[in-house]
Amino acid sequence: MKKESDKERFRVCWNVISACNSNCEYCHRFKVKEHSFKDDKKILIKMIKDGVTNLTWSGGEALLYPGIMKLMKIAKENGVKNKLITNGIILSQLDEKEKDKIFDKLDEIVLSIDSTNDETNKELGRGEKHYDDVRKILDYAKNKDVKVSINTVINSKNLDEIEELAHFLNNYKIYRWKFFKFMPFRGLAEENKKMFEVDESKVDEIYEKIQELKLENIENILYKTQEDIEEDIVLDPQANMYQTIENKNGEFEDRYRGNAMEENIVKLIKENRIKKEQGKFLEGLKVKPQKNNNNSQDSNNGTNNKEEQKENEDGEGIEVDE
Ligand code: SF4
Repeated sequence: MKKESDKERFRVCWNVISACNSNCEYCHRFKVKEHSFKDDKKILIKMIKDGVTNLTWSGGEALLYPGIMKLMKIAKENGVKNKLITNGIILSQLDEKEKDKIFDKLDEIVLSIDSTNDETNKELGRGEKHYDDVRKILDYAKNKDVKVSINTVINSKNLDEIEELAHFLNNYKIYRWKFFKFMPFRGLAEENKKMFEVDESKVDEIYEKIQELKLENIENILYKTQEDIEEDIVLDPQANMYQTIENKNGEFEDRYRGNAMEENIVKLIKENRIKKEQGKFLEGLKVKPQKNNNNSQDSNNGTNNKEEQKENEDGEGIEVDE
C-alpha cells in the first residue's frame, strides 16, 4: 500500500493578492487586481479536481486577502497541504486565539527575514520592527504542530549579517531555511537592481559557511537557484500561470503557461517534469497573449468548456463546507 509520503506531489504557488503591508525595496510581486472570492473559490475547486496536492499561499501579503481563511479551509478539508508565506506583520499583532485559527489550517508557515539588524531591515524596506515581529511568531509557533520555515533574500545589504541571522534562527526548530540570491525579476527588484545586486560567488561562499556552522535546530538549508525557480509554476492574482526564466541576454521574463481556470495545471506540471528530463525545459514557454492581459476580475470567463466551468462552480465531489 502506498504511504502518504509516497504520493506524487503537485505543488502550486498562488499569489492571491497583490497588495502588501510592507515596502520591500526589492519586491518583485505581480501587480494585478485580484479576483473576487467567488471566482477564486471556483479556481481552487478546479485545481483540487485537477489533482493539486500542495498549495503555497502568497502575495503580496496573503493574509490581507479577505477570503484567505475560507480558501485554506476548503483546501485543507480536501487533503491539500497548505503552506503560507507571510511577512508576519498581521500575524504578530493577533492574539493567541486568532493565531491558532490560522495555524489550524496550515501544514507549514514560511516567514521572510533577511536580517536581525533593525537598521538593515529599515533600509530593505521591511521596517524596523520586522525582526521583532518574526521573533514573536517564532516564539508562538514553538509548540505548534506546523512546520516553520524561513526565506531569506541574500543581497548586497545583508551579506555580512547572515551568520548572525543563522545563530538567531537556530534558537528555534526550523524545518527549512531557504536562501534566494537577489534577482531583478520585475517591479521594484528590476528598478532597484543596482542597490541589491550581489555576486553568485558571494552567495555560494555564505551558503557554504552557514552549512559549516552545523546548526542543529535547522533541518534543511537550501539555496534556491535560478534553475529551481524556472521549474516553478506560479499563479498571479488573476490565476495566470507563469514560469520566470532568464533569457540569453540575462534578462528575466515571465513566460505565460495559461490560466488555472482554463488549463489543467497538473498536466502542465507533469509536462514540465518530462521536459526537464529531456533537457528541453524552456521549449514551448510563450509570452502571455493579450486576451488575458486585462486585469479584470472576471478572467475565468475565458474558459471554453462551459460544462467544466459549471461543474467547478458546483464544486461537485469537493468538500466546501464553510
Ligand atoms: S517582498 Fe513580500 S513582504 Fe516585501 S513588499 Fe513584496 S510582497 Fe510584501
